[in-house]
Amino acid sequence: MAEAKGTIKRDRLYTEEDADLGLIKDRKIAVLGYGSQGHAQAQNMRDQGLDVIVGNVEDRFAEQARADGFEVVPIAEAVRRGQVILMLIPDEVQAAVHKSDIEPHLTRDHTLVFASGYAVHFGLITPPGFLDVILAVPNCVGAIVRERYARGQGVFGHFGVHQDVTGQAHDLALAVAMGIGILRFGAIKTTFGEEVAINLFAETAGLSGMIKYLLTAFEVLIEAGFSAEKAYCETFYEVQFLVESICRMPFGEAVAFGSPTATYLALTKTGDVVTEDVRERMRQMLARIQAGEMVRDWNLEQLAGCPVLTQRKREILEHPISEVEKLFLERKLASGGI
Ligand code: NDP
Repeated sequence: MAEAKGTIKRDRLYTEEDADLGLIKDRKIAVLGYGSQGHAQAQNMRDQGLDVIVGNVEDRFAEQARADGFEVVPIAEAVRRGQVILMLIPDEVQAAVHKSDIEPHLTRDHTLVFASGYAVHFGLITPPGFLDVILAVPNCVGAIVRERYARGQGVFGHFGVHQDVTGQAHDLALAVAMGIGILRFGAIKTTFGEEVAINLFAETAGLSGMIKYLLTAFEVLIEAGFSAEKAYCETFYEVQFLVESICRMPFGEAVAFGSPTATYLALTKTGDVVTEDVRERMRQMLARIQAGEMVRDWNLEQLAGCPVLTQRKREILEHPISEVEKLFLERKLASGGI
């Protein structure tokens, strides 16, 4: 098996002992957006005694925030009243909202916090030069960020600094990271550019690769005459089993956790399907991401009304997997997971 070339860099894991929540205790936190991350981060910070208001347009997200006990005001007002501004609306709309509702109200008393390097690194937003601009990112969907926090646990994350005007940006980023709960697990320091490159790479190479693998494996079994139920169970089960094993034990043990036959096949045929040329395609993909090509593609797709994405979503929903999985999903949920 080929190995990664070059020196392997290591990062330090920062925890709550490295942070001082007091830096943001007396500052009003404005959470802009109450979706996946917004609802989780707002509640985690409030649970630690921080003073949080939510900025959102009047719709179901605003209703939910009110039902959860928050004061909800328009985004521009939240920026005016807040000092630590958490940008928790989708990456692709941040630039427009920043221009219309955020930037005109920013002063040097504000700290601007992003949960992704996307908009700033790729130049969609250029924050004013007079304030600190920082990053605090949970490596997880908001529902899990909140659920773990409520159980007294945390999720892994990243933090970083784009602009340090006060000389305190590093410490402020750690304070926000503690507020949203990621230092309970631990977070590593990153840059906006690194964070977004790795995140988009993992989504492009990892997520899309896994989706392609699952669909193709299912289709090959169906073509060979196996029933949809058998094809679905085996194909999806193996992936679920590996992922669950990785969550519980070191990778080297997880890949050898099945039967001797499974381990033999998995470890000796590793390169038969995912062949070495994938490495070069991944390198090219990473280079395209770092050069901003993926973001440009996504912007053009949105300007055109998302025709390709809509078509792909429809194809997946209409794939024979959707029919067969209904039964299995119900049974899985009823029987505790597998
Ligand atoms: P969501 O899609 O869940 O955000 C929804 C919220 O954004 C709602 O409050 C919605 O309100 C508001 N919103 C959507 N469009 C607009 C608009 N045009 N103007 C004003 N408000 C708008 O976002 P996420 O929580 O997924 O992402 C937020 C940030 O967190 C992003 O930077 C993302 O990269 C990052 N992140 C996300 C993770 C995830 O797993 N989801 C993980 C780690 C980081 P309304 O519809 O009422 O306008």
